[in-house]
Amino acid sequence: MKKPRLLLINPWIYDFAAHDYWAKPLGLLYIASWLRANGCHVDFIDCLNVHHPQMAFEPHIKHATRRANGTGKFYRQRIPKPAFFTHIPRHYYRYGLTYRLFWEELNKLPPPDVILITSGMTYWYPGVFAVIHFCKQKWPQVPITLGGIYATLCYEHACQYSQADFVVKGPAETTLPSLLEQLTGIKLEYTPKMEYDPDLPYPAFDLLPQIDYVCILTSRGCPFRCEYCASRLLFSTFYQRPPQDVFKEIIFWHTQYGIKEFAFYDDALLVNAETHAVPLFNMIIKSKINVHFHTPNGLHARFITPKVAKIMFQAGVKTVRLGLETASPKRHDQKLTREEFIQAVHYLHEVGFTPSQIGSYILIGLPGQAKAEVKETIVFAQKLGITPRLAEYSPIPGTKLWPEALQCSQYDLANEPLTHNNSILPCAHSSLSWEDIKELKKIWHISCT
Ligand code: SF4
Repeated sequence: MKKPRLLLINPWIYDFAAHDYWAKPLGLLYIASWLRANGCHVDFIDCLNVHHPQMAFEPHIKHATRRANGTGKFYRQRIPKPAFFTHIPRHYYRYGLTYRLFWEELNKLPPPDVILITSGMTYWYPGVFAVIHFCKQKWPQVPITLGGIYATLCYEHACQYSQADFVVKGPAETTLPSLLEQLTGIKLEYTPKMEYDPDLPYPAFDLLPQIDYVCILTSRGCPFRCEYCASRLLFSTFYQRPPQDVFKEIIFWHTQYGIKEFAFYDDALLVNAETHAVPLFNMIIKSKINVHFHTPNGLHARFITPKVAKIMFQAGVKTVRLGLETASPKRHDQKLTREEFIQAVHYLHEVGFTPSQIGSYILIGLPGQAKAEVKETIVFAQKLGITPRLAEYSPIPGTKLWPEALQCSQYDLANEPLTHNNSILPCAHSSLSWEDIKELKKIWHISCT
């Protein structure tokens, strides 16, 4: 029986700011790999492709400068702001390919049987809608399925407005096989398990035009329940892969594709460190491979012991991001104390990490959060000799903090996901002014993440 031809698309980002900070559509690349394992033909278009040979010649485009560690800027084109953002003193952009080149990419392909589109931040949905619009124009008869973070967290909005034929919420393993069977008449022989699955093929990074770095998941989900975070809404349980299995994957990418830069995408890399991260890093050290690791999702400072810090350094960790969030004791739950944080930074410094390698995410714009609290946290981080990195709070439907966010925001968060945009600090209008934010950024010369 003829196997289906599937087109997978990573859409544009529409935002005030976006950086390729080890940002790849890992979920979609995993889906691509298990669909290929079923014999499906998979085509892939990445609207955020920074290596498209013609992008450098497109007019009115800001160029995508890149760094040696694989991160950098996306191409971007300034576009008009949505009407209710006119008072925001920042420009608005579409990040990624021009419409013209995207259309050319579609024209290169034969008609697929099904189109699968992923989605990221809830407030990036205009990029998703634009992709759906183009695909509908090109192949009106081909069914379009929308999944991913926006589709999961704003399911009703996506069903009502996206024009996708099918919107799926939650992990693809639970929804996609039966939907594809319904659409193509073909039953997939292999579908990944929801817990650790040794047969799950590695994500299909080979579909990218160039692999600058590989994102690694050593675990899935998070055992914690922070009040502002969507982790449990996207994947409700937590499991860890055997370290030997992760090590094999790293060796595979390094030897087969020459990859040197790896970004851990885990929410909780250092949980159960003695049986998980420690043996993994020890295997890396023993193998003597020359690779670099980055932890953009943040690490739990409380799990950094002298031993963990030492093997992280020896294994080649180059970017350490710690979740500090706020130094205010009144906001701290059992996840972290000030003392634990100070201790962790001390251990990292002792083994040789430099201040520029250690960054601490500091939340700004939490409901009711005053300037003084942010200032205090920045000063706290600076005194410890690490780099504060402001992470603007984005309200997320379904989180514990959502009702409070709804109450204090001047925007219609419940009905308009564009207003979840962290760049507008949607929950801070009564406690932080644009002047305050400018001052905070200027005084401490820090950049927002
Ligand atoms: S913020 Fe981090 S630690 Fe907290 S629930 Fe989310 S992923 Fe887990």
